[in-house]
Amino acid sequence: DSFDEECDYLFKAVLIGDSAVGKSNLLSRFAKDEFYLDSKPTIGVEFAYRSVKVGDKLIKAQIWDTAGQERFRAITSSYYRGALGAILVYDITRKTTFENLKKWLRELREFAASDIVIVLVGNKSDLNQSRQVEVEDGQSFAQLEGLSFLETSAKEKLNVEEAFLEMINKIYNVM
Ligand code: GDP
Repeated sequence: DSFDEECDYLFKAVLIGDSAVGKSNLLSRFAKDEFYLDSKPTIGVEFAYRSVKVGDKLIKAQIWDTAGQERFRAITSSYYRGALGAILVYDITRKTTFENLKKWLRELREFAASDIVIVLVGNKSDLNQSRQVEVEDGQSFAQLEGLSFLETSAKEKLNVEEAFLEMINKIYNVM
């Protein structure tokens, strides 16, 4: 579209993490400011765009969502191809989604560029009463692996903007 000529940079980023951690809703919150109570049944890769100003530059991020693929098989290498950033998501109310982070990092290391910027996100922070993963556990995992870390709520619109902007700023700074 005509917007491609107006932006200074266009880059691809991906959302990864177990099924139902909130990837689709983080993306729809960031790209369209929308939230859905039900999981979308869509199968296949989808993406959304959002442009942000960083300094005097206009950056357009093309962010891909697995849209359910992770339920059936490992995501293919084409999903990661050309990605400069990744938002790695777990659900603070389901410990298994946190334990599976190692699996996701292994996959990133296998298929993504070695210098990909990764932001770790513990989503559903609004469900604090059902919490199974402490903030400190997220923090220390992130520190150990050299990732940025934030807890978010796609539902309550907490830290979502900050998580994506952290990734976009970091990518911009290494470009
Ligand atoms: P995905 O499979 O990782 O893309 O997850 P979805 O975005 O489809 O979300 C799975 C379910 O979790 C849906 O029922 C969402 O409404 C819900 N969900 C997503 N984000 C949040 C959140 O921040 N808080 C709460 N309470 N529910 C959420």
